[in-house]
Amino acid sequence: MPEGDSVYQAARRLDDALAGQVVTTSDFRVPAYATVDLSGETVHSVVSRGKHLLMRIGDRVVHSHLKMEGEWRVHRPGERWHRPGWQARVVIETPAAVAVGFDLGLVEVFPAAEETDRLAYLGPDLLGPDWDAVEAVRRIAAAPDAPIAAALGEQRNLAGLGNVYVNELCFLRGILPTRPAGEVELVPLVDLASRVIRANRDRISRTTTGNDRRGERLWVTSRGGEPCRRCGTRIEHGLLGRNDVELRDIWWCPNCQR
Ligand SMILES: [Zn+2]
Repeated sequence: MPEGDSVYQAARRLDDALAGQVVTTSDFRVPAYATVDLSGETVHSVVSRGKHLLMRIGDRVVHSHLKMEGEWRVHRPGERWHRPGWQARVVIETPAAVAVGFDLGLVEVFPAAEETDRLAYLGPDLLGPDWDAVEAVRRIAAAPDAPIAAALGEQRNLAGLGNVYVNELCFLRGILPTRPAGEVELVPLVDLASRVIRANRDRISRTTTGNDRRGERLWVTSRGGEPCRRCGTRIEHGLLGRNDVELRDIWWCPNCQR
């Protein structure tokens, strides 16, 4: 799953390439929107909201979510695409750029007037101008029995954290990912979430350790069986979830996290 900082960066790249331009052709290779034609419309802006990407074009919004394998790439007109054409779900072309959404997990087009309501379920956006830590804490605290890893990843509580940040934040705060949210000091945890994702907002490679070297950027994520960078204890790996569909990988140091 993507992290909010990646989606933020994608939105900024798309906004730089498209904002203010008039769409020459659009191609929605998604059955429900195959007839949508945005040609002649102006791209107003491209923004992220948590892990969601919103392209405001004319009086409509193209809403997408990258899910597992999705990405948006910007090409120059006539340039060879970075991925095979059959993986393209949406193509937006202007005189200066061709934006292609590959393997998007979700695509929908709706009237601009519906944007606020459609995304109202999301919690405060960690990278948004209206980030609200108090509200995020309130939402997490409302379900005190939820494991903290699930609570942090729940986009209705706060929007923007994927599984990497969830695991890294639990390590940084010395909290087991399975600990019930009600037993966790939420204010410093949410504060740290905001600081760590903002610190990575403009970086090419995400790091939570402060180390930029490949293979040394994360504390626990995807490091099952390897030694803890702080104490040398073997990092544990497990699965957490309410059911088989919502399983989430968790990693933790049994010595550093309680
Ligand atoms: Zn440790």
